[in-house]
Order: sequence, then C-alpha cells, then structure tokens
Amino acid sequence: MSVRILNALTDSSELPMSIASELKKKANELAAQRVSNFDPHIDGAFQCPRCWIEDGRRLRIVTVPSKALGELNTYHCFACNYEITG
Ligand SMILES: [Zn+2]
Repeated sequence: MSVRILNALTDSSELPMSIASELKKKANELAAQRVSNFDPHIDGAFQCPRCWIEDGRRLRIVTVPSKALGELNTYHCFACNYEITG
C-alpha cells in the first residue's frame, strides 16, 4: 500500500470527509510503521527513505561524489529523485 497514493486520494475534494479522514489516518499509521522499520542499509548501500516510507519499496540511493575538495557528497535515488547531501 502506498502512503503517497493514500495522501493523494485524501486531497481529492470528491471524497466524503469521513472517507478522506479514514484514508489520512491509514496513511499516517502506515508511514509511522515504515519509519520505525526503516533499515538505512541494503547490502552495504544506503536505502532510499522516501521510496520505503511512501511506497514500501527497498531501493538503493547512489553516491554522487562531490566535485570540489571540501564539499559533501550527494546521495540520489533515481526512482523518486530524492536527494540528500551529507
Ligand atoms: Zn527513492
């Protein structure tokens, strides 16, 4: 089940308020459960937190080395374009 899709559905103004509220609650519960189960590593590589939390997919993020001395590396997920520097 996708947190991203549940949240998109709750943003739809065509749903009755009670159903939208229940979907939002389910999305929040699912996201919290995935955050608590998040393992940042996959076989020695880093796992994308967005793909895991929002879609339950275990995908690697790729290290993009810095271009200049003293700059931090960037980590990029090619599935969702999540990017973090560190
Ligand atoms: Zn991702």
